[in-house]
Amino acid sequence: MKNRVNPKNKEHLSILGFGCMRFSKSESEVEEQIIHAIENGVNYFDTAYIYPNSEVILGRILAKGYRKKVNVATKLPPYLVKKYEDFDKLFYKELQRLQTDYIDYYLMHMLTDLVTWDRLKELGVVQWIDEKKKSGEIRNIGFSYHGGKSEFIKILDAYEWEFCMIQYNYLDENNQAGKSGLKYAASKGLPVMIMEPLRGGKLVNNLPKEVYKTFEAAKVKRSPAEWALKWIWDQPEVTLVLSGMNSMEMLNENMRVASETDVNAFTEVEKTMFDQVKKTLHEKIKVPCTGCNYCMPCPVGVDIPTCLSCYNDIEIEGRIGAFSKYLMQTSLKSEPHNASLCVKCGKCEKHCPQEIKIIEELENVTKKLEGVLYKPIRAVAKRFMKL
Ligand code: SF4
Ligand code: SF4
Repeated sequence: MKNRVNPKNKEHLSILGFGCMRFSKSESEVEEQIIHAIENGVNYFDTAYIYPNSEVILGRILAKGYRKKVNVATKLPPYLVKKYEDFDKLFYKELQRLQTDYIDYYLMHMLTDLVTWDRLKELGVVQWIDEKKKSGEIRNIGFSYHGGKSEFIKILDAYEWEFCMIQYNYLDENNQAGKSGLKYAASKGLPVMIMEPLRGGKLVNNLPKEVYKTFEAAKVKRSPAEWALKWIWDQPEVTLVLSGMNSMEMLNENMRVASETDVNAFTEVEKTMFDQVKKTLHEKIKVPCTGCNYCMPCPVGVDIPTCLSCYNDIEIEGRIGAFSKYLMQTSLKSEPHNASLCVKCGKCEKHCPQEIKIIEELENVTKKLEGVLYKPIRAVAKRFMKL
């Protein structure tokens, strides 16, 4: 495993971090993967208060003698803080879940604008952080970010942060904080942790065939996931990349790629190849949904990420493929989750880090995927499936 030096505190961090947002397998499998990762040099584990059961499981595993070998990153959900006492309430709950008495990297979760940070400041967050740093219960303080470029710079400049975490991948080079935000944070001497390196799997599965062809034509044969990870690690401003690895195979593959990667290693030909890939994808993808689920649940049951994903798949897989998927995933269920159920309450839009106009996009989904044949086909399929 390769390491990069945290420019702020000079500690060595593995360039591959273990994202603990979704543990999909049994706890024994998760334990096997986490221990395997630690034994192979992964020393950064990222969880959050709101990731279901994640802190508890990670805490149980690390308590078996691994806590001191790794850095634990977890996050405070700002929207649950209503008064000063809530900072401690949430933080000590996290320490209890994680079976530890300190957090190595503590983040304000999902800041999207300066307003949220200012609200936390009014509630006394700066004093609270000072206390926690003094007591050693927080070693490094940072934030994870999902807003636009200009607010990112404002938040960076609003406090003496010690690290930050941004969504970054070759398709989002100019979205959210983007490359300019990455460079700005690095110029301030901050380590930058990267999330969504494969954009929730979108840069691996169901890419347009032109993209696969472009990758296949490269001199060095690499999978789309490997290309995507290498694109990020090629950049010296990046400290580490988080990957949500939920199989041993994926973990081993990512560790292999991490061990073979270097900064500024891409050739001019490879850079040109990426320009072509980006151009193709930008032409095809309609809605920049990452499938993060922050907009869920919808009060009337619309499965927003699935609806948007099927909509994007029209260009990638064709109308029939996307329609079949849409039917199966949203409509052929005892409780339907299709786009036309939307009553336009607007609740979801407030939570979308990509600032997607969800209501408008769901209308587009309805137009494209719930045409005249939708209802009769759904009725026949439901009868056939005895739903
Ligand atoms: S706007 Fe539509 S999709 Fe969004 S939460 Fe309301 S009903 Fe659900
Ligand atoms: S619509 Fe926005 S919040 Fe919902 S899954 Fe997509 S990116 Fe996430």
